[in-house]
Amino acid sequence: MELRDLKGLGPKRLAMLEAAGIRSLGDLLWQLPRGYIDTTLDTPVAALQAGRTACVAVTFCAQPSIRYMKGLSMVTARVEDDSGTLQITWFNQPWNRNNWHQGDQAVFYGRAERFRGQMVMQNPKLVKERGIIPQYSPVDTIAGAHLAGFIEQVLPHAHTACPESLSPRLRAMWGLCGLPEALQAVHRPQDAAGLAAGKRRIAFENLLLYQMAVRSLQGEAQAGIPMAADSAVTDRFWRQTGFAPTDAQHRVLGQILSDMASGRAMRRLVQGDVGSGKTAVAFGAVCTAAAAGWQSALMAPTEILARQHLVSAQEVLAPLGIRCGLLLGGMKAAERREALKYIEAGAWDLVIGTHALLGEGVHYARLGLVITDEQHRFGVRQRQRLSSKAAEDQPAHVLVMSATPIPRTLALILYGDLDVSVVDELPPGRTPVATRIVPEEKRQDLYRFIRQKVQAGEQAYLVCPLVEESERVEAKDAQATYRELAAGPLKGLRLGLTWGTQPAAEKEEVIARFSAGEIDVLVATTVIEVGVNVPRATVMVIENADRFGLSQLHQLRGRVGRGTLESWCFLLGEPNERLRTLCATNDGFVIAQKDLELRGPGDFLGTRQHGRLLPDAFGVGDMRLIEETRAAVHTLTHDPALAAEEQVVRRRAMQKYERVLEEIGFH
Ligand code: ADP
Ligand code: MG
Repeated sequence: MELRDLKGLGPKRLAMLEAAGIRSLGDLLWQLPRGYIDTTLDTPVAALQAGRTACVAVTFCAQPSIRYMKGLSMVTARVEDDSGTLQITWFNQPWNRNNWHQGDQAVFYGRAERFRGQMVMQNPKLVKERGIIPQYSPVDTIAGAHLAGFIEQVLPHAHTACPESLSPRLRAMWGLCGLPEALQAVHRPQDAAGLAAGKRRIAFENLLLYQMAVRSLQGEAQAGIPMAADSAVTDRFWRQTGFAPTDAQHRVLGQILSDMASGRAMRRLVQGDVGSGKTAVAFGAVCTAAAAGWQSALMAPTEILARQHLVSAQEVLAPLGIRCGLLLGGMKAAERREALKYIEAGAWDLVIGTHALLGEGVHYARLGLVITDEQHRFGVRQRQRLSSKAAEDQPAHVLVMSATPIPRTLALILYGDLDVSVVDELPPGRTPVATRIVPEEKRQDLYRFIRQKVQAGEQAYLVCPLVEESERVEAKDAQATYRELAAGPLKGLRLGLTWGTQPAAEKEEVIARFSAGEIDVLVATTVIEVGVNVPRATVMVIENADRFGLSQLHQLRGRVGRGTLESWCFLLGEPNERLRTLCATNDGFVIAQKDLELRGPGDFLGTRQHGRLLPDAFGVGDMRLIEETRAAVHTLTHDPALAAEEQVVRRRAMQKYERVLEEIGFH
């Protein structure tokens, strides 16, 4: 049997499936339901909750009535059970008027809503058969119900379409049912327990194979350059910064230094909220590398950020005898030649830059430590390209810093065997940024507030959204806002303007003037998202905040509250769950987790491909399962008695994931 043998599947639909990557009966069975309708259990009408879907068994109190509004019919009925009454409303289904009579009994499934103080179900489904019914997302124009029909035809052949991939020994070890059984259970659930067992098996399989593939591609941990940790070096470094490290910084730097001393190449991800002091930790690592006689490279996502890192490095590292330099794409030829000379001669111990660090012509004398900042903006491939600039036989230590906290679940999946450290503490004296949603009618109050703050010597950011996916439109918007503010509400204040495609020199000048306090209010598009550190900026205003993603809002908010002054973030726009979450917490990890829940992993990571890797309903949010499968991979790769099984699983893993991993740049 093949796809084209399925009843109802003509060449047109076959092509649609093919285009969606569904090329075999097995692929079709891996088209998992996006959810289920459970009509096995009734909810008493009195126990219905607004916003929740439920199944009710009810009796009609009277024959429904019908009204017409703008040509649309609306049938309403009052129904009841022992616990109370409920209103059912059908739009555009006039036949329901005469279908039902007083005393008729029926079971309905739908979402309860509260309307004018009473519970209502709109257009509920009539339940004819009790059960747990899978719901499928459409593929192109093939409706979910049609897909269900095709899958139904394939299910009897599950054993040949999707043969078992794990030996009985492994299944017993991990408490898993068979794969064909699992697929039967998720596509045609008999009961909740069977469904749960099926889902577990499938989620386990996905996560196991994926992590196995990541590991295979990353290769085994390599030998690395041992760089001895010296507490005298570290102490001197912290003294030079002028502050005591937080416990979190101390712990994370300790983890890094022990990696660097271990003789294996470090591969560590450091996550921490904006302002948690990751850069300081990275500089601590640079000191140790320099003391051992090795160069470090620090790659930042923007030139502005690279320059800012250089300023901090000159302040903190240069006095310790660490020579720092800059390499940027936009440099003049002579400047660049000189920089390259210093790098090649080993005259710089720390090279800070952007992508330019990866360039063909860049040769490092003794590259021993590679740091990438804000790593989610670089592909894994770029990170590896930078570390490949180290000597062949002496791979550099790799430190990846991310200011976008990624929920631990995802970090473990995405980074495979990258070790993860978290700087989960802010330096002392920071007050959390007070965040408020501002209704449109309070806009003038907001401007008054900004004036007061400016009078007190503080500064503000005003961010305009990306209205369309076009830099030009974005710039125009910011320019218009700037002119309006300058002419009206903020007249007399010193305003600045910056946007994404602004010429680099102009952009840098504006930001420098804002940093120096020569600009009171900086009107900006999201270019300020990363990096800019201005401690006297205490007010962040975000226009049309409802258009931004949660993590992005959090990043923007992180631009204020960088000093000891009380800081504010004002959100203009339609209140939504994202905005309310932002008001409720300053914890980047809570926000990231929420963002993941709201958007799903694909959107969260900004690439569709990631979404393809991680089917939503099955396992991604389940921390326990992720830990469990991670441990399973470890057992499988380390227990000699399982070597044969490891081979089989690895082959499967590569079959399933190698292509996708290549697409997202894992090679
Ligand atoms: P991140 O890179 O995590 O966003 P940074 O390393 O840029 O954070 O630190 C943000 C600010 O906090 C910087 O001005 C830095 O000098 C300061 N800082 C870092 N660590 C501490 C600390 N332990 N105590 C006081 N200030 C600190
Ligand atoms: Mg930083």
